[in-house]
Amino acid sequence: MAEALAAIVGRPNVGKSTLFNRLTETRAAIVHDMPGVTRDRLFGSVEWCGRTFSVVDTGGLVPRSAERFERAIREQVVLALEDADVVLYVADATVGITDLDQEIAAMLRGSAKPVLVAANKADNAARRLEAVEFYGLGLGEVYPVSAINGMGTGEFLDAVVAALPREMADGEADPRARIALVGRPNVGKSLLSNALLGQQRSVVTDIAGTTRDAVDSVLSHAGQEIVLVDTAGLRKRARVTENVEFYATLRTRRAIEACDVAVLLLDAAPGLEAQDIRVLKDAEERGKGLVIAVNKWDLVAKETNTARDVERDIRGRLKTLEHVPVVFVSAKTGQRIRRLLDIALRVVAERSRRIGTARLNAALEEAVAAHHPATHRGRFVQLKYATQVGVSPPVVAIFCNHPQAVTESYARYLANRFREAFGFSGVPLKLVFRRKSKRETAP
Ligand code: GDP
Ligand code: GDP
Repeated sequence: MAEALAAIVGRPNVGKSTLFNRLTETRAAIVHDMPGVTRDRLFGSVEWCGRTFSVVDTGGLVPRSAERFERAIREQVVLALEDADVVLYVADATVGITDLDQEIAAMLRGSAKPVLVAANKADNAARRLEAVEFYGLGLGEVYPVSAINGMGTGEFLDAVVAALPREMADGEADPRARIALVGRPNVGKSLLSNALLGQQRSVVTDIAGTTRDAVDSVLSHAGQEIVLVDTAGLRKRARVTENVEFYATLRTRRAIEACDVAVLLLDAAPGLEAQDIRVLKDAEERGKGLVIAVNKWDLVAKETNTARDVERDIRGRLKTLEHVPVVFVSAKTGQRIRRLLDIALRVVAERSRRIGTARLNAALEEAVAAHHPATHRGRFVQLKYATQVGVSPPVVAIFCNHPQAVTESYARYLANRFREAFGFSGVPLKLVFRRKSKRETAP
């Protein structure tokens, strides 16, 4: 499941980015340990009272130039209303309600999304009292806060957490495979999702009240149900003209968060570009399954380019991702789109595989015998045993005497050997090296 998303909205200079920093700093210590947690300035993660959610500072998108300003503000609100679960409206308690506040409030009032008002710069008791003025916006509960000194932000966070959609409880997890179609604009994501959904009635996921439940579609394939994640995000949104790339990136990131396997769609003509590699890396860091679908194959097949050339070109640029399946499709003619689903489902199955400890250790022993790790300060690095400690994504713990001495390239070598032995194609395989003292032995 994607984390719930709170969007910070408000006119310029009210302290949105200061508040964003204040809210996301609660997470600072955790950020580095969590692969894939973004470090972008506009998008961050907050942990409060055991609940983790994402925050986006839409204000960072508003250009300074006057003529594009109005439109950008509108788009902020569009984003907030379409993508976020909760809107955090920030106003300036030292200024009071302005015309622009009124205008934005009018756009927010019509929505069913919960809106919380942070009356910012309420740095002292007198200003906290004055903040009641913002009830006049008719948006909802008003929280006097000071983004600068932290006053009131705890109560504000309590309210934000209370307004988020509930999380799925353990054991309630959706057993259906979740596929996200991602890729640059115009590669054919919408056409492909329509082709896949075809005549099937597109129904929303039916676990009510959970995060992001209204934007997915369900299709059945080979006797099982598959969830196409964030199909609402594939709809064309004529109103967004500013910051198109930012919204696309945000959508991609959210779709990846919510999926089991990300299908990266490419246009066969330009092929793989730097941006695509970033998307693949992002999905890999998050432990998601990966498939590359080269679309618009109907336009290429008749020309001199053969599938082999295009595939070689793509693989040449993938390096550490050579295990990712590549399939050539046409959303237009429907060529191999069912096959794409088969492959995506196979990756989902691979991702949840569990390799027995005995087989894993046999593979480890063989790999070490073929190529020993380098010595560490003149001493042998001994890899004692391996055991799979996680699935979906798979994580293998390898116990050794000097975990810190295992180089990245050696870890990659081992992962490749495990792939040769066990498959895991399209699946990020994580190895963690743990310390094991001399006297202990394998369980
Ligand atoms: P944004 O344009 O809405 O993102 O606003 P900024 O976060 O850039 O803040 C605008 C100005 O307000 C900066 O000079 C901040 O230092 C100041 N500011 C932000 N929060 C507070 C606050 O809680 N109290 C006071 N006194 N100033 C603040
Ligand atoms: P999105 O922005 O990734 O959702 O891309 P669209 O689905 O809107 O497709 C962009 C354009 O490419 C549209 O004009 C589609 O008709 C066209 N297109 C998409 N897939 C194919 C395909 O497989 N073959 C051909 N010839 N055109 C395609």
